[in-house]
Amino acid sequence: MINKGKYGKYGGVYIPELLIPAIEELEEAFYKCKKDEKFNKELEEYYKEFAGRPTNLYYAKNLSKKVGCKIYLKREDMLHTGAHKINNTIGQGLLAKYMGKTRLIAETGAGQHGIATAVIGAKLGLDVDVYMGSKDVERQKLNVFRMKLSGAGVIPVDVGSKTLKDSINEAFRNWMSTVDNTHYLIGTTMGPHPYPEMVKYFQSVIGKEARKQILEKEGKLPDTIIACVGGGSNSMGIFSGFLDDIDVELIGVEGGGEGVETEKTGATISKGTDGILHGSLSKVLQSDEGQISEASSVSAGLDYPSVGPEHAYLDSINRAKYVPINNDEALEAFQELCKTEGIIPALESSHAVAYAIKYAKKAENKGKTIIVNLSGRGDKDMHIVSKELKVKT
Ligand SMILES: *Cc1c(COP(=O)(O)O)cnc(C)c1O
Repeated sequence: MINKGKYGKYGGVYIPELLIPAIEELEEAFYKCKKDEKFNKELEEYYKEFAGRPTNLYYAKNLSKKVGCKIYLKREDMLHTGAHKINNTIGQGLLAKYMGKTRLIAETGAGQHGIATAVIGAKLGLDVDVYMGSKDVERQKLNVFRMKLSGAGVIPVDVGSKTLKDSINEAFRNWMSTVDNTHYLIGTTMGPHPYPEMVKYFQSVIGKEARKQILEKEGKLPDTIIACVGGGSNSMGIFSGFLDDIDVELIGVEGGGEGVETEKTGATISKGTDGILHGSLSKVLQSDEGQISEASSVSAGLDYPSVGPEHAYLDSINRAKYVPINNDEALEAFQELCKTEGIIPALESSHAVAYAIKYAKKAENKGKTIIVNLSGRGDKDMHIVSKELKVKT
């Protein structure tokens, strides 16, 4: 079983014996639905009618002129609930329904995945319980309220660091005793097989659309794709459309926190080492003794102390490159996009924008065509940005 879902040496299934039947049931259902015409038709319908797909591939003309490259933005920020996360919750919610499950559980840090799960639960008539570290519940009161409005229960997790990684452990624990009626809806390309592959499948709609759209607009493939990496789902989604096009450069941007030279960083690939966390082998931020570190970034969505195993693999074979962007650089890019294009990006996405600007300004990259995956909108981040900018001015 641990040899399933391998990306080189990464990935696999490292879970307690008791969870094996649940994972096997899920794997079988996923492969069956993936081939099922009715399932995929319904999936497409929800993408279109509920989420608002396809999203635009938007030519950022003002920014492009300023930095000397052609920059296109894949507008996942325009989706329902404000980010790409809805692509995955629709897919897994529908899958749960096909499996005859009546309840979804999910983990959430800042609350974005919790909200995306709560709304699909409401839409499909499934009960939802969201596990959330008690520290995060305190910090994200408004998002807790949003989840509750859609009928979800929010369960504070009071163990360990009382944040995301502990809520994932609690969700797994609950799933062990509730698997008969419950699907665990993981929010990113992490966890044991089949999760990384499954989440990638549901997010691959981003890459499929982007590839078609750039060919229509430019008549050729882009030189470079740039996307931010938390657990790795929006980046895997857009990368998947171009993985086989070896001339297209793929760049994942990690949250460098206060800077990778400090301990306060979310840059898992740049600073992490091989380790097993939450069911798979990947790069993990940990001490020499294997203690998991707290990832730290101004954007909560980039705070996960590990990264999807396929990213660790793409890094190891040099198919994709991973770079850190620190908090200040992200905040600057946030303002730059607001000013030049009138688009307010999520702080996570601002990391990708920041690297795109840096990249475009290098002499060797002049005139290149770049697609930046704008994973989400920044409305959720107003309180953080206004606080940070006050400190700076
Ligand atoms: C959650 C989130 C991310 C990070 O998650 P990935 O799985 O790495 O995509 C990035 N951007 C936004 C807007 C998010 O909400």
